[in-house]
Amino acid sequence: MKHIFVTGGVVSSIGKGLTAAALGTLLERRGLRVTLQKFDPYLNVDPGTMNPYQHGEVYVLDDGAETDLDLGHYERFTSARLTRSNNVTTGQIYEAVLAKERRGDYLGKTVQVIPHVTDEIKERIRAVAREDECDLVITEIGGTTGDIEGLPFLEAVRQFAMEVGPRNALFLHVTLVPYIKAAGELKTKPTQQSVAKLREIGIQPHIIVCRTEVPIDLEVRRKIALYCNVPLEAVIEEQDVELSIYELPLALQQEGLDELVCRHLGLQLGAANMSDWKEFLRRLAQPKHTVEVAIVGKYIEHQDAYKSLCEALTHAGAELEARVAVRRVDAGQIEAQGPARYLDGINGILVPGGFGSRGVEGKIAAARYAREERIPYLGLCLGMQIAVIEFARNVLGLTRAHSTEFVPETPDPVICLLDEQRRVVVKGGTMRLGSSLCILRPGTRAWAAYGRSEVAERHRHRYEVNHAYRDRMEKAGFLVSGVAADDRLVEIMELVDHPWFVGCQFHPEFQSKPNRPHPLFVAFLRAALAHAQAARYPLLEIRN
Ligand code: GLN
Repeated sequence: MKHIFVTGGVVSSIGKGLTAAALGTLLERRGLRVTLQKFDPYLNVDPGTMNPYQHGEVYVLDDGAETDLDLGHYERFTSARLTRSNNVTTGQIYEAVLAKERRGDYLGKTVQVIPHVTDEIKERIRAVAREDECDLVITEIGGTTGDIEGLPFLEAVRQFAMEVGPRNALFLHVTLVPYIKAAGELKTKPTQQSVAKLREIGIQPHIIVCRTEVPIDLEVRRKIALYCNVPLEAVIEEQDVELSIYELPLALQQEGLDELVCRHLGLQLGAANMSDWKEFLRRLAQPKHTVEVAIVGKYIEHQDAYKSLCEALTHAGAELEARVAVRRVDAGQIEAQGPARYLDGINGILVPGGFGSRGVEGKIAAARYAREERIPYLGLCLGMQIAVIEFARNVLGLTRAHSTEFVPETPDPVICLLDEQRRVVVKGGTMRLGSSLCILRPGTRAWAAYGRSEVAERHRHRYEVNHAYRDRMEKAGFLVSGVAADDRLVEIMELVDHPWFVGCQFHPEFQSKPNRPHPLFVAFLRAALAHAQAARYPLLEIRN
């Protein structure tokens, strides 16, 4: 079993996660079974209770773990099947250590960061290696070298590397080499200092990956090699990618990163076959069509809040050879000024998941606009609940219909809590989480999109469509096209008399990959494309 530890220097958000994922892509395509693990040095047990402004998107795994968005990159870039063991936080480590202490497992000893916390961390690395049936584990340590809260993790991986021996462990440090415009120079000092910080705690990185805006020349490479104590070839340039993050594996391959890693770990493997990956990039780079899609949400100014969603649109766009222009629309602004101004000329409207009442009326107005103007609509989780509220109000005439999440005393609770959720008081990890089966109704758009009658999709929500209204909605043309296996929960709904209007209670975006786009996103974009083409040729009648 081989291990790679990825650390980061100088600044946060430097792209450690993407670098780890891209290296995973290359090593997997050299024939290794690879898994990836992320350590997050914060005290939250998981990011599930964090605001997207703090943390970006909460990514959900099959087993219902609420994780860091880097796990989304891991799953999109590799075929690793991740579980809750693949994202470990300081909160989880302390929770486990304290539980052991209360049980009396430490037999009268003083419980300390070293060795008890570090032992617990090491055990988590061994656990993924055991569970994931793999040849190689890439472990990314969140945060930046020098952070106080990262120290126990660094100490633990230092010990771990000692224990498994030099041929089986490799340290890769991702660092920033800033370009100072005024001086016209790349600066290596921050990198030198962050590596010095690592050496202080006994870690000598084997490879330095340099994030940079401009190419780094030989001189700069030499300097980094000399002062950071690595061979010249172990200084890897990682320039900002131009087109897409999916270029990264190819860029790193060109720099010889995977070759270097294999040599260090004593692995003799042929070159990574990237042909399908290149084909995906070709489709992305040379689109034949363009569609414009609006994301109507409340975190739209935050880059990372809708990460998987934007990736899923990219994947589906490439599949259809279409460039997807995303118009980010603030639901709050629709509330203030009406939808037409913000959604005029759009080919598709997407309302993503969300919590809390801010912006909800704006989203409802967007769903109404999509329904009445016959613009393709995809509602995800809250986006489906929104469509149900809109339909109840404006088609069924239940003008005060709402979700009890927002108006608990509404006379028409078309979205409400099920009994098991009503009893829940603790917030963390108590939603309906993770993958479950959905049965599709033959002949519906959802069924046509999937081309199957049974699918597994990931969930993260508390509220559900209220059964008391199901019949009335179906009779009025809002069809239930997918249900949970026991028929107790509505999973997908769609409008009968509309080009393409679908809402799902789950999050399809979590299962989309570059070469395996999600069927619902592909179908949505196909409809948006038809909308775009009809708009360009106004004589074409697409209604009915
Ligand atoms: N707030 C809604 C619920 O809890 C929707 C959640 C979501 O969109 N992820 O059911």
